Order: sequence, then C-alpha cells, then structure tokens
Amino acid sequence: MIEVLSVTSEVYPLIKTGGLADVAGALPGALSGSGVTMRTLVPGYPAVMARLSGGREVASFADLFGVRGRLVAGRVDGLDLIVLDAPALYDRPGNPYVGPEGWDWPDNWKRFAALSWVASELGLGLVEGYRPQVIHAHDWQAGLVPAYVKYGPSPTLKTVMTVHNMAFQGTFGAEIFGQLRLPEHAFSVEGVEYYGGVGYLKAGVECADVVTTVSPSYAGEIRTPAFGMGLEGLLNNRSATVFGVLNGIDMDAWNPATDPALAQTYTASTMQNRLANKRAVQEAFGLDQADGPLFAVVSRLTWQKGIDLLAANIDLMVAEGAQLAVLGSGDAELENAVRSATMRHPGRVGLVTGYNEKLSHLVQGGADVMMVPSRFEPCGLTQLYALRYGCVPLVSRVGGLNDTVIDANVAALQAEVATGVQFAPPSETALADAIRRTLALYADEKSWKKMQRRGMKSDVSWATSAARYAQLYASLIGLSTDDSADD
Ligand code: ADP
Repeated sequence: MIEVLSVTSEVYPLIKTGGLADVAGALPGALSGSGVTMRTLVPGYPAVMARLSGGREVASFADLFGVRGRLVAGRVDGLDLIVLDAPALYDRPGNPYVGPEGWDWPDNWKRFAALSWVASELGLGLVEGYRPQVIHAHDWQAGLVPAYVKYGPSPTLKTVMTVHNMAFQGTFGAEIFGQLRLPEHAFSVEGVEYYGGVGYLKAGVECADVVTTVSPSYAGEIRTPAFGMGLEGLLNNRSATVFGVLNGIDMDAWNPATDPALAQTYTASTMQNRLANKRAVQEAFGLDQADGPLFAVVSRLTWQKGIDLLAANIDLMVAEGAQLAVLGSGDAELENAVRSATMRHPGRVGLVTGYNEKLSHLVQGGADVMMVPSRFEPCGLTQLYALRYGCVPLVSRVGGLNDTVIDANVAALQAEVATGVQFAPPSETALADAIRRTLALYADEKSWKKMQRRGMKSDVSWATSAARYAQLYASLIGLSTDDSADD
C-alpha cells in the first residue's frame, strides 16, 4: 500500500466552495482498490468540527504560528480525516477564505502556512504509526507543502502539487517570509520568492516532485502567458514533470437513477421522466411551465465563467423561444445583469442566488442545456454532471471543457459521437452562434435524444484518472502500481 496524505482547504461533503472540494472528496474513494490509502488533512472550520464527533486527538501544538492547535483524526462519510483544529485560525463564520464583508481574511497567509507546515510535520512522522510516503497538495492553500518538504530533513518524502485554478495563486508581501519557518535561502527563485514577494502556488509548482493540473488541455494552456498568469515560464522549464489528469465525478452522489434531489429519477431509457424535473425547475425559478428549450447555468457568477457573455445573450435566447434558469452567486455587477434580465423577461428568465447543492442537482436533472461559457476552465465539473444527467452541455472550447465535450459539428453528428456544443473564442458573438446552433439541434427531437443518451453513457467517472494518480504516486516512490496493489 502507498500512503498518501492529501492536503486541501475544502472537501465535500464537509465544506465546499467549488470543484476542489468535489475532487478532494471523491479521490480517496476512487483510489481504493488501486493500492493507495489516502488520508485528508483539512482545517477545522466550524462545519468540519461539527461533523467530527468521536475524533481522537493525535497531536497538539503549543505554538502553531503563534496560536494553539491540535490534530484530530476521525472518519466522516467514508473519508479518513486529519483535522487541524486551531480555533484562532479557523473558527470563523462563513466562507473558508473571506470574511463577512467579502474581503480575504488578512491572516490567510498564516492560516494556510500553518496547514502546510503541519502537513510536512506529518510527513516527518509526527504521529506515531503514521508516515505518508507522498503528500498531495491542492492549490495555493497547500502550496507551501512542497517547500517545507524541500527545505526539510526528509529526502524520501515525495510531493505532488495539483493546480485546480491558476487564477488563485496566494501571493503575499515579502514581510511575511520571516514568519514562515523556512530557511533564509528559501526566499529565492528556486523557493518561495515570487516577483519580490512570497508566492504559495509558485512555491508548490517550483518545489514539488510532480505538478499536475486537472485536464490535459489546461496543462498545455498554462504554459502560455494568457493562462499561466505569471507561472508559464516556470511550467515550461519543468514541462517533463507537468501532467494533466482529468477530474472525474462521484458517480453515486451524482446518479439520476437514485438522486433524492430530483422530482423524478430516470435513466437513459426513461428520459421522458426528466419532464417532471423540468417542471420543478421552472417552479423553483419562477418560470412559466412552458415546453420550449430550458437553458441553465449553475456557476460562480464571475468573469472567468463568462457570465458577462451570457448576460449579453439573454435577450437573444428569449427572442428565440428559450427559457433560462441561473443558479449562482458572485460579482454583484454580473448578478445584477442577470437580475435585470429576469425583470425584462418575467416567466422566461429566473435567478436563484446563493449556494444550493440540492437545487443544483435538480437543475441538472430538468434543464435541456447546461451553459458553461468560461474564458478559462481548468477542468470544470458542471459539464460532467450535465453529461451524466442528459442535460446537453454548451461550452466554450477551453481547458477541460475541450477535453470532455464532443462538439456536434457535421463530422461528429455523422459519426454519432457528439455530446454537446462547443464555441470559440469566448466572445458574445461566438456564444450567440452557439446558442442558435443548439436551438437548431434541439428542434430535431430524435437526434437531440440520441445526443442526450450519448452524454449519459460517456465515461465521466474517476476510473481512468484514479489509476493515473496511483501510477504517479507509485513512480515517485519507485514502485510500479502492480507492486503497490500486492502489498
Ligand atoms: P469552480 O470550481 O471553478 O467553481 P467547477 O465546475 O469545477 O467550477 O465546480 C463547480 C462546482 O460547484 C460544481 O459542483 C457546481 O455544481 C457547484 N456550484 C457552483 N455554483 C453553485 C451554486 N450556486 N449552488 C450549488 N452548486 C454550485
């Protein structure tokens, strides 16, 4: 067995703001049977502590970056957790990263340095009877892990850094460096220094043994300035150890045949049952109970997600006879743009703001088209859920959207392999064309149904990617996956 410690700032179903939580929550289970045991280190936010009854204390710290803390191990929802319980750092309301006013917590550098430092201590054998061979760090919040390991005393401990989104890099002023518990020479280009300050994601990308990102297309894109966002040079330098491993989804949590969030469950052969879900979605979003195409968005409402492109096309969609249901929250300006469309088009456009996991399932089960018009998309999970639920994805041709949706162009339609609609570049006019193309496809009921069915059958599970991660871990510690499965 290979022991891997996964370090993450969020994990489904305990705490989630986006796709990272889904991935961190699903990967340990997906790896079972492939010779890997994965434990997960997460901060003890209130939502996590509330679920950890019966956990046992396995370590304590009198001075964890100036505060007290302890590690509590426990099993929750099938996850083997090690929770960093440090109330002064994590016992705060709301979102893991921002305060009630929407600003980043000013001590985020410390909150996530502490998490990363503790991970490296675990790697050094802090807890009796537990010694991970590989630490898998996710995103900038765990970006210092590879640095602590590189500058620490264990030559055998290996690290994997996964970038879920290059747009969030965790950069701070140089003045924090003295408090990071790293040696002086770590403040260098080979270490944590980044444009004169400290870069957590940069440190991870620089110091990890292997860097992965969440789709093959994104792994290529981030070597260019537009997508690398400052890290492209570094990624190019180490391109032989940068891999794209596509995310999968939790096939049990997202299963239209059993999903309790649906008004009616269904399979690829009982697709007519989706109608009850469509009606429930229309009701939830204040839409007329109409029969035309129902487009939907389930997303953070941000520039990355192309919500401005969507907003600019709402009048066109309505004029063409479509309805639109938007579930999401984010930038006030974009939220307002969608809200004003709901006022222009009552009964045709609906908006539900806030985060609502249950409603997100219903929307996948009832809408006809799921729109993901992102400007960049490392992997994207929404389109994977859509495929699984027979909700046809309409996506921009970037990152993981490019790798997971087969565009309904003429050749793909003839070969009967299309699963959705792609457009490029991410512009208002290209999206308008894609909307018209989607409506034309929808009008051909028989071929639309076939496309839905193909989506439902496409492999969006973790099977292939979990095996790939297992292989990466094994190669890092000099094993083949077969050896590890035998242990
Ligand atoms: P990102 O992580 O960049 O936000 P992903 O597509 O990888 O994008 O993952 C988004 C996840 O968050 C999906 O599981 C999606 O269903 C969910 N999600 C986004 N917004 C909402 C919302 N308002 N309510 C419920 N779920 C949401």
